[in-house]
Amino acid sequence: MIQNSKKDSESIANYKKQSLDQTFRDAVSTISKEGNRNYVNPQKPVGKLYNLRSYFSYFYLILFFTLPFIKVEGEPLFLFNVLERKFIFFGKIFWPQDFFIFAIGLLTFIVFVILFTVAFGRIFCGWACPQTNFMEMMFRKVEYLVLGDAPAQRQLKDAPWHLDKITKVAIKHILFYGLSFIIANFFLAYIIGVDDLYKIITEPVSLHVVGFSALLIFSAVFYAVYAFFREQACTVVCPYGRLQSVLLDRNSMIVAYDYKRGEPRGHSKNQENLGDCIDCHQCVKVCPTGIDIRNGVQMECVGCTACIDACDHIMDKLEKPRGLIRYASENTIANGEPLRYTNRMKMYTALCFLLLTVLSVLLVTRKNIDATIIRTAGMLYQERGRDSISNLYSIKMANKTSKDVQLQIRITGKINGRVEMIGAPLLHVKKEAQGAGTFFIVLPRQVIDKRKTELYITLFEDNKVVGGGKTTFLGPGKKHHTHKN
Ligand code: SF4
Ligand code: SF4
Repeated sequence: MIQNSKKDSESIANYKKQSLDQTFRDAVSTISKEGNRNYVNPQKPVGKLYNLRSYFSYFYLILFFTLPFIKVEGEPLFLFNVLERKFIFFGKIFWPQDFFIFAIGLLTFIVFVILFTVAFGRIFCGWACPQTNFMEMMFRKVEYLVLGDAPAQRQLKDAPWHLDKITKVAIKHILFYGLSFIIANFFLAYIIGVDDLYKIITEPVSLHVVGFSALLIFSAVFYAVYAFFREQACTVVCPYGRLQSVLLDRNSMIVAYDYKRGEPRGHSKNQENLGDCIDCHQCVKVCPTGIDIRNGVQMECVGCTACIDACDHIMDKLEKPRGLIRYASENTIANGEPLRYTNRMKMYTALCFLLLTVLSVLLVTRKNIDATIIRTAGMLYQERGRDSISNLYSIKMANKTSKDVQLQIRITGKINGRVEMIGAPLLHVKKEAQGAGTFFIVLPRQVIDKRKTELYITLFEDNKVVGGGKTTFLGPGKKHHTHKN
């Protein structure tokens, strides 16, 4: 027991000494001392977690390539048409008028991401981020298939240009561009929908110059990212990666190196005085961002778990327990504390639930027909014979559904009166379009006992309430029944 704690304090002291040397933070693993690009050629990971990630990525990629084809009542399940400001989530069309729902949704998403990161670190990056899935599970696998594993890739890079090298490199880049072109098509399908994409693909280019150009630009961007820019998208560009330093704390679950068990690292016959890390660098060789996890938490770590698999493999060979590198928190490694649900996490969870409740209420009460009813400006009221008064109104409607609607206006609430449409008795509003109409509301004089009476107007489609709102009816008031405009 005493011996164990002595070893613990020795390894902590050793690790701290090494950690004081923070010079690794002065350089980016993907840039050489001369300022040139350091291409990372990670070794192909092998192991339980890599297999799990592969299975997950198959499901993920199938979902990505299938979703644009799924329709609900003729509309895509998801559409993010930023150009026409048309957004569809789960088959429901959201208009600019629904901006507040969108804003609350975005806020909920941000809080959820914060909560998720505080609790689980960069698990999203390693498992669910499209960049990681495309890069590691599609492009990297193609690269291993064509060029071989990391040593073969490096060998080919250093070799002079000969037919074999030219052929392999050409095949790789043709496949990379092909995959990028496919991804670009689906990416565009999420923006304009599969039907419009089909037109771009099948009709003459002259009819779809903009769409076709967008397709080529997206393909070029994806190709440049996956063939050349690669892991820098995570380490240099991605804002989420940059946020880690403020979101993570000592209780967050991260891919962590157990320095208490591993240090002092080294390989010697006299393993008694050494920790479990034999300094084989396998964890560094498989890392797609080229870092050494033994240096501690780093922004460049995308939580891909490749180093866990690599180190577990070494531990198996050494017949030592797995988990020298594993999912753990800083506190678990340093103090042996289990993963905790901290107060900070509880606070974010409560906020997340609150926002989710608000969002659910907004979504459930959201109307498919938005109507704005305005009493015609500059007009007072009109007398209808001796016993009735009328006001003129205009109505503007936004039909957020994917079908044309015929609407009838009725007065609801306590006051009875009649609606006289100017023009057709029913309002016709095309799908995903706006419509307008003008109408009179006629009320019996005896129900008007003040100058402004509040009215509830309801829109019906086949006797089903689809929208409506409040308006005011202007009358003469009790003492001025004979005033007329
Ligand atoms: S793979 Fe494991 S044993 Fe090898 S250097 Fe990394 S941490 Fe040490
Ligand atoms: S340190 Fe490990 S988990 Fe982090 S990116 Fe490198 S291999 Fe992946």
